[in-house]
Amino acid sequence: MRPRPTTPYDHQRLALLALLRERGISDTAVLQAIDTVPREHFVQAFMRNRAYDDTALPIDDRQTISQPHTVAIMTQSLMVRPGAKILEIGTGSGYQAAILAQMGARVISIERHPRLSQQARQRLQDLGYSVECRVGDGTIGYSGQAPYDGIIVTAGAPDVPEPLARQLVVGGHLVVPVGDHQQQTLYRVTRTDHDAWTANELGPAAFVPLIGVEGWDE
Ligand code: SAH
Repeated sequence: MRPRPTTPYDHQRLALLALLRERGISDTAVLQAIDTVPREHFVQAFMRNRAYDDTALPIDDRQTISQPHTVAIMTQSLMVRPGAKILEIGTGSGYQAAILAQMGARVISIERHPRLSQQARQRLQDLGYSVECRVGDGTIGYSGQAPYDGIIVTAGAPDVPEPLARQLVVGGHLVVPVGDHQQQTLYRVTRTDHDAWTANELGPAAFVPLIGVEGWDE
């Protein structure tokens, strides 16, 4: 992607990057992507001055754009290589998808709210990111392009959705917040064999609920 021009947000963006480094984010590809993707374009216009705060912010349809630190942890844990095929559940603003695309991944992102999906698709296209945005229930994954090198769920699940674990390549990672409606624990589930997975904890998170057949009821 193009190097970004000077913006009024440069100072705040550098401060955010320093904070992320301090909080243990060390993957330079992740830091570079956060440095490059203009987060101010993914938040509501009246919140642009807060675009580089390390907090989640409201978007339309009572949803949120995730906290940058959470985006960084999850992206780092996916271990994305250029050319990797990544499935995202919960397009929201499109910011996480843009970070992955910026890192050279081939991104397919599913959102259940058609309006959010449409807005994100337009925004990503305007910024020059090629992301396949689909509308639907992401808890069942998307068999049309499976298997995936990585799957990232950006809404809080009651449990690890099994269809997603089964749509990973062997060696692939699924990063998913599991918990209740308020708080979750982030897990990285790795498919180690055709019928074997391991999981490790990455820390706490607070996402809006994942709603669908393998998630919460509406
Ligand atoms: N990744 C987003 C933040 C996502 S917020 C960003 O970078 O901005 C969580 C999103 O998940 C919401 O937009 C919500 O509508 C969506 N969602 C919840 N359940 C879903 C499901 N089953 N399938 C697809 N999207 C879902």
